[in-house]
Amino acid sequence: MTRTMSALDLRARGRHTSVMASIWLAVFLAAGARATPESSWGTDTTAHFVVHHENAGGSPADDNLLERLYEALHPVLWTLTPWMTDTKVDVYLYANRDSFLKGRFSPPKWSGGLMRDADGVKELAIYEPIDASVAAHELTHLYFHSYFDEKSSSPPPWLDEGLAVDLQNQALTPPDPRDKGPVLGGSIPMKVFLASRPAEDAPGAVVSFWYQQAASVVMFLRAGHVPSLFFDFCAKLRDGAGTAEALREVYGYDDPEAFEKAWLAWRPKAAPGMPVGLQTR
Ligand SMILES: [Zn+2]
Repeated sequence: MTRTMSALDLRARGRHTSVMASIWLAVFLAAGARATPESSWGTDTTAHFVVHHENAGGSPADDNLLERLYEALHPVLWTLTPWMTDTKVDVYLYANRDSFLKGRFSPPKWSGGLMRDADGVKELAIYEPIDASVAAHELTHLYFHSYFDEKSSSPPPWLDEGLAVDLQNQALTPPDPRDKGPVLGGSIPMKVFLASRPAEDAPGAVVSFWYQQAASVVMFLRAGHVPSLFFDFCAKLRDGAGTAEALREVYGYDDPEAFEKAWLAWRPKAAPGMPVGLQTR
């Protein structure tokens, strides 16, 4: 199965303007020479990755960054994907965005990085300079999808993207047990939200809002409950249960409304340090 990073991801990260600029640049440069074939690149082998780098010398700093991201993701994901400890992911590190867009993965013009999990080969394609949050986001998708792929299943979009955003945010900062995620100015009704994903042509602000809620809801699942239940929840979904059924059987919520009520009570109402009286709601 193949997954690519969506334009929604980039818009959700507030980078739509720069992405659009990059698209025009990419179109402008499209007539240029094709990138050097990936098969002729040098490789570095780290503990958990084979890094294929277009820049001839490679970069110890890039290799170290990837390993740091792995170390951040491992505690959360290893119960789902035990293979991550001893099976290396192939990382294709392009010299720049233009090379990445022309490379063998044929990414969409708006893509900031992509992963592929197909036929036992697990690949991440990114470019220099590495954007740590993009790499963490796509690596999370790669590991998480491989878990569902084992039973030819796929995670619901809110869980898939919520986990990727949640982990991209904490990948390079030590987890703070007091952190309850983003302060949201409102919310999409849970029953609607759990069955939704942003439309391809949705405005950036709508997409961003959906991703923020996804991250908050996933954070609530992981930090607001016994941590091991998250594994049980994913296993239930992978075996074919609907979200409402899995929430009921694993977390004990009678229906999405009960889950919503608990989430609304848990999520932060104000950013840390915000003066009383300026709370959003
Ligand atoms: Zn994503």
